[in-house]
Amino acid sequence: MADIVIRGVRKTFGRGRVAAVDFVDLTVADGELFVLLGPSGCGKTTLLRMIAGLEAADSGSIVIGDREVTTLPPRKRDLAMVFQNYAVFPHLTVEQNIAFGLRMKGGAGAAEITGKVRQAADLVDLGGLLDRRPAQLSGGQQQRVAVARALAVSPSVLLMDEPLSNLDALLRLKFRSDLKRIVHELGTTVIYVTHDQVEALSLADRMAVMREGRIVQAGPPLEVYDHPASTFVGGFLGSPPMNFLPVAIDGVVSPGPRSSEAGSADDGPRAMVGPRGDSFPAPEAMRGWCGRELVAGIRGENMDVLGERAPGTVAGKVLVVEPLGAQTLVTVASQDTEVKVLTAPGYTAPPGGDVWLRPVPDKVRWYDPDSGAELTGP
Ligand code: ADP
Ligand code: MG
Repeated sequence: MADIVIRGVRKTFGRGRVAAVDFVDLTVADGELFVLLGPSGCGKTTLLRMIAGLEAADSGSIVIGDREVTTLPPRKRDLAMVFQNYAVFPHLTVEQNIAFGLRMKGGAGAAEITGKVRQAADLVDLGGLLDRRPAQLSGGQQQRVAVARALAVSPSVLLMDEPLSNLDALLRLKFRSDLKRIVHELGTTVIYVTHDQVEALSLADRMAVMREGRIVQAGPPLEVYDHPASTFVGGFLGSPPMNFLPVAIDGVVSPGPRSSEAGSADDGPRAMVGPRGDSFPAPEAMRGWCGRELVAGIRGENMDVLGERAPGTVAGKVLVVEPLGAQTLVTVASQDTEVKVLTAPGYTAPPGGDVWLRPVPDKVRWYDPDSGAELTGP
């Protein structure tokens, strides 16, 4: 068992400086592939280095499995780390590189080391290249060596800091899926750091989004994607990022018996957009925000682009149409906001043409315009 429990961990550099990691609480389950995502400088590496024991925490505690490791040196923490720069030794062969961690750890005989090296090399598909030196390998193969070296010691915990950022796009894609398969097969607990939101979504069993030294949201990737806890998370996660439309809530109440017609226009609160009276339905829970200005967060794939006005639409003008292959990205100017909509391949519209955007009602998220925090009810 190697779950990781982090409580109140903080780290400042220099006197009186802002905290690089600011009271982080985090629990990673045994065997989980956990991704820490955030922009450059938000404290990901510092947090990882504290877990590894390469950096001392100012306060807080770190428990791995059943052991408090907060003040233990790295070699006593039963973990391995893979960094962004492959950190393979150029003068050693692949085999010697992979064996390096095992030799450092000590306690294993030559035959055992050979066996473990072969096993690790096979896992990352380097079995045929054991006699090569790093200069004879591609970037992706060198990074595989670094991963194999980490796996060979059978660590309870594997820490990875942006391990794929030096690889080109195709290799990254291949390596990403291989890595996910391998660590799940081994059942190793992994904390994986990245600033790449696609990598986070595709790899993570669970993920946390960091900002300025704090964790601002944690959960399964699709949950975080579908329900960002703030405009920061919605804007950071997703390509294109979530759209944010300023709206005012109008608590229309229909007189008399309610219309049973689905999508009826006069049935409950509306999100009013701009001065022209465009609006789309808002959930009953938003009635309490009547008269207030809010921000509606809508993902590009949760809007239809229509060629004519219809109930529940917001008018706009096409700025640019970008075919992406599997989808088409349409940028629409609407009420001084640039809205990015993902639509079907083959979609065309002339720049400057009138369009109407129709949000999928239950996919709209609601945010406080000042704090950016998600609103659920008043
Ligand atoms: P990330 O990995 O998310 O890019 P880091 O953990 O490397 O972020 O850095 C977090 C913050 O701490 C940054 O503002 C960075 O400048 C600062 N920092 C990191 N390491 C040191 C250090 N050794 N000395 C001083 N400041 C540091
Ligand atoms: Mg970093």
